[in-house]
Amino acid sequence: MAQYLKTSKSLSERQQANKQTSIIVENILADIEQRGNEAIRELSIKFDNYDRQDYRLSQQEINACIKQLSRQDIKDIEFAQQQVFNFATAQKSCLIDLEIETRPGVILGHKNIPINAVGCYVPGGKYPLLASAHMSIITANVAGCSRIISCAPPFHGRPAPAIVAAQAMAGATEIYALGGIQAIGAMALGTDTIAPVDMLVGPGNAFVAEAKRQLFGRVGIDLFAGPTETLIIADETVDAEMCATDLLGQAEHGVTTPAILLTNSLKLAQETMREVERLLTQLPTAEIARQAWRDYGEVIVCESYEEMLQEADRIASEHVQVMTARDDWFLANMTNFGALFLGPRTNVAYGDKVIGTNHTLPTQKAARYTGGLWVGKFMKTCTWQKVLSDEASTEIGSYCSRLCQLEGFSGHAEQANIRVRRYGKQDVPY
Ligand code: NAD
Repeated sequence: MAQYLKTSKSLSERQQANKQTSIIVENILADIEQRGNEAIRELSIKFDNYDRQDYRLSQQEINACIKQLSRQDIKDIEFAQQQVFNFATAQKSCLIDLEIETRPGVILGHKNIPINAVGCYVPGGKYPLLASAHMSIITANVAGCSRIISCAPPFHGRPAPAIVAAQAMAGATEIYALGGIQAIGAMALGTDTIAPVDMLVGPGNAFVAEAKRQLFGRVGIDLFAGPTETLIIADETVDAEMCATDLLGQAEHGVTTPAILLTNSLKLAQETMREVERLLTQLPTAEIARQAWRDYGEVIVCESYEEMLQEADRIASEHVQVMTARDDWFLANMTNFGALFLGPRTNVAYGDKVIGTNHTLPTQKAARYTGGLWVGKFMKTCTWQKVLSDEASTEIGSYCSRLCQLEGFSGHAEQANIRVRRYGKQDVPY
């Protein structure tokens, strides 16, 4: 049986926090819907200390942001965007249109159509998370979306130069300095100055994720991508310093970030807990990471690899770093994860920033039913059909007519009957 050396805040406490967030978001979205730009302006002043009439950045402001970056910064962003582009392009090649004759004269197919207008949220409350710009804007461009707008919160009261540069370099068609619920509400519902989009994508804090969830239906959303989570699966092939570094590397995201170690070694578990405390004395972002580790850190010791797999699938974490003698076995058998990082030579930060896989990933167990953001999320797979011969129309029509009558649908049945009469020359009564 799995043994907990360290537990986190109880589930009921987390559910209570989720409920409070949900009420705040509901009220703010209702306010935005009722008062539009006036509400957005007040919220932006209140939460981001930022006030202007029109939140869209002009080309001049965008150029000024780009100029603030060094040549090396620009090269690094270009490199990261190229990696995201390369992988998204390769993934797009898996999205093939289909046309197949399923019975003589019956042709069925599907077509992948890019979504017209998408809103890409780039988070930036605590850190200017420019990597999220590549993840959604580049991928939307590869998919072929025609209007790609992007919002990011002002950072310390002004647009964050690195985010704005990344948004522009990735090819956003409109860039707004707007954050949180007000950004999500504005993109989904539209304002006097922002035309509404068809789908919202991108990660964010609990308010952003909940706003997207509440607006789903009125607009599409990519997935539930809230505060980040990390799970490390390790055995004695890896050392405690590596495990502790990887736990804290993600815990610095925010004070509610779950960071979990799952191991079959009591020795590694104990050493990692000591190592976390040591590293917390050095890490510049220790204040956040310490609180996250205290409230949301877990250490679980399992008896076998099979038990580690079972626990990992139950946790269904956003990021899963596997550092064991059986990494490929986990890849072959794990079913619930946002992204897997296999072996000690890679890690979550590579995926977050630069390697090319998408970093917008499912949280709060959404990995049970979805993967992360990818080019396919920006496409609609829509079906079509054609019936080429009189015989095929008559054959399908006869089945259809009887099945419609079984359901009591006379109007549907007549849609079939008229074709059986016309193309099959059969006398079917009205
Ligand atoms: P953010 O941009 O998501 O949120 C900042 C905004 O939150 C602000 O603009 C403000 O308007 C709003 N806000 C702050 N306090 C509020 C309050 N009390 N009420 C209403 N609105 C409020 O930036 P952040 O806060 O730094 O969070 C980024 C998040 O994105 C982190 O939690 C990180 O873990 C997460 N993330 C997730 C993924 C993923 O794929 N799941 C990827 C990257 C980042």
